[in-house]
Amino acid sequence: MIVFRGYSHISIAIALFLVIKDYISLDRPIGIVVFTIIIGSILADLDHPSSLFGRLIVPVSAIIKHRSGITHSFFGAFLFTLPILFYDITYFIAAITGYILHLLLDTLTTTGVKWLYPYNKKSYSLKVARTGGPEEALMFALSLLYIFKKKF
Ligand SMILES: [Zn+2]
Repeated sequence: MIVFRGYSHISIAIALFLVIKDYISLDRPIGIVVFTIIIGSILADLDHPSSLFGRLIVPVSAIIKHRSGITHSFFGAFLFTLPILFYDITYFIAAITGYILHLLLDTLTTTGVKWLYPYNKKSYSLKVARTGGPEEALMFALSLLYIFKKKF
């Protein structure tokens, strides 16, 4: 199964946050916003038994096959980040942004993402990257370089 690894999702999410942070106004502590984006960026892989959330929430990763549907869809992005909305809308936006970014990155891979599940079970893929391949390594390295160059 081809998936972007968790650390790539995290580093790319942080780098993209740093790209946009000067153009948005945050009324919440930046550390918590970044933490919430990070959570959102890896939450979709809760259906993967070796992911952080897949190990924490074992029944989900045991029942749902990786990228088989709900976790990698618009519906799943909303559903799995919804509890945060009841706490704070800013953190919800951060989490769902991280989640959607995860789906966009997975769309680059050959397996793709079933964005419209359960309405439509078609998998959308750009087939330009492989997990552990040079494409992922390049994106990971560039995002790390940007993070260290830009800082907070
Ligand atoms: Zn994924």
